[in-house]
Amino acid sequence: MTDFSISKRTLIKTAGAGLVTSVLPTWRRAEAATGSFDLIVVGAGTAGMPAAIFAAERGAKVLVIEKSPVLGGTLDRSGGQMSASRTVFQKRKGIEDSPDAHFADNMRINSWTADPLVTRMFVDNAGESLNWLAANGFEVGEDHPVKGAGHEYFTTARYQWGKDGGKSILATMEPLFRKQMDAKRITLLLNTGAVDLVQDKSGRVVGVTAEDESGKLTDYMGKNVALASGGCASNPRMYQDLHGVSLTSQIAYPYSQGAGFTLGLAAGGYLRGGQNYIGSFGGILADDNYPSTVEGSFEHHPEIRQPWEIFVNARGERFMREDHPSIDYREKALSRQSGQRAWVVADQEMMDKAPTWVPRWGKEKVMGSFGTHPMFTKADTLNALANKAGINPAGLAASIAAYNRSISEGATDAFGKLSRPAKYGKGPFYALRITATQLKSFAGLGIDEQLRVIRADGSPIAGLYAAGEVIGGGVTGGGAYTNGSMVTPAISFGRMIGQKMIKVGA
Ligand SMILES: Cc1cc2nc3c(=O)[nH]c(=O)nc-3n(C[C@H](O)[C@H](O)[C@H](O)COP(=O)(O)OP(=O)(O)OC[C@H]3O[C@@H](n4cnc5c(N)ncnc54)[C@H](O)[C@@H]3O)c2cc1C
Repeated sequence: MTDFSISKRTLIKTAGAGLVTSVLPTWRRAEAATGSFDLIVVGAGTAGMPAAIFAAERGAKVLVIEKSPVLGGTLDRSGGQMSASRTVFQKRKGIEDSPDAHFADNMRINSWTADPLVTRMFVDNAGESLNWLAANGFEVGEDHPVKGAGHEYFTTARYQWGKDGGKSILATMEPLFRKQMDAKRITLLLNTGAVDLVQDKSGRVVGVTAEDESGKLTDYMGKNVALASGGCASNPRMYQDLHGVSLTSQIAYPYSQGAGFTLGLAAGGYLRGGQNYIGSFGGILADDNYPSTVEGSFEHHPEIRQPWEIFVNARGERFMREDHPSIDYREKALSRQSGQRAWVVADQEMMDKAPTWVPRWGKEKVMGSFGTHPMFTKADTLNALANKAGINPAGLAASIAAYNRSISEGATDAFGKLSRPAKYGKGPFYALRITATQLKSFAGLGIDEQLRVIRADGSPIAGLYAAGEVIGGGVTGGGAYTNGSMVTPAISFGRMIGQKMIKVGA
């Protein structure tokens, strides 16, 4: 696992000003340099594959270095939900749309926390990416495009995905990639990780040092290097350093270790965007060994299940309107709580009468989890429940008393909760701990409008590009789960690096 605490900047500073610089200590340098490529792509995933395909289709000699044994990266698990205007999918439904409208919707949903310049590039190029996929056989659901699903909705239907989510995108791109391999324009190295960038005296990136399975290091020389190695949402230490929160859950691709962050930093780049962090709502973790498996999700969408219960934090205090219609509101509220956690609390009547907490599990499994699952607690009294679950007992008692009093008096709920079918009555009492979960990094490398990795002063590092989650999810999605704001720009920006508009060799 990458140890972010090792300062590669320190290493590079002490490396002296040789002909080429490296963040690797001298005993770790490759013995020989090999090949000369127009483009070296680090990572054969969502962004890396189109970068390689488009460059190779234009005659470039491309090397793709991939740490895992397979192509596709996060597409193996991603929902693959994409957003774009002026697509063939919109056209066949007669939907009028524009990049301007997409931009406005995107920025509205994330309250202008995304980077407007990069978002503009994302929306301006999204349609072409979808149309490229469509021209190569990609198909979406019959009712697509839609306005949204699961998160805040667009005002226009521009959101779609394939029947197998991210895998449908991979199935479309893989034959194009393999065709270029057959034509000897793409060389693919699997089970090989980029561990360093080679820079010349001027700071220009001129190659990549890669380590194969046997531990052998090789320097691959190239005119341009594209970092497309994903984010760091499988690296707890780095995630915490960059976002200021624990990585509670293991959802991301296991190879999302943040290697590109370290490589970009060492070459002189900088990281930004961690402040945009927001977790997903309702996760039921397997245990407290972070990052933990997510075993299920509490059904918190009020349009599916109106909450009878209140939610409290570790102090036993309510902190949100439990039936708020905005998922963005709910996600932000939970993410701000100590430990990013809260408890759903119910009495026996609620457990008997309210719809089950986890529809996918069914009532029987939910009830069977009390006493067997660490996130589920049951006790005869509220005081005992609080003590067992780890909630402040006095705070919980006060919150329940205030909630009951407000219903008795016919007063408006303190948080505006409208769904109040019952007061809390007799025990036993029940609690479920829910925790904010993470599937992507929000922080990433700073880039310019040509997708070049930049220094903190805005100057580009010659020869070094980046696309995908390595530039940070917050840059196009902001501090929200903005529809399709990861996969769509990853494909577009990868494509743009590969295209001649960003001239190979420039
Ligand atoms: C469960 C889940 C659902 C999601 N759903 C959506 C969605 O519906 N819509 C959306 O927009 N976003 C979604 N996302 C986010 C989105 O899928 C990702 O942000 C995006 O796919 C990342 O693309 P990437 O190219 O940056 O990284 P990846 O696709 O992960 O590719 C990076 C590649 O680099 C390789 N690599 C890593 N380190 C090295 C190294 N040192 N050397 C060489 N190779 C290396 C990895 O093995 C990997 O193959 C989802 C994410 C998850 C986890």
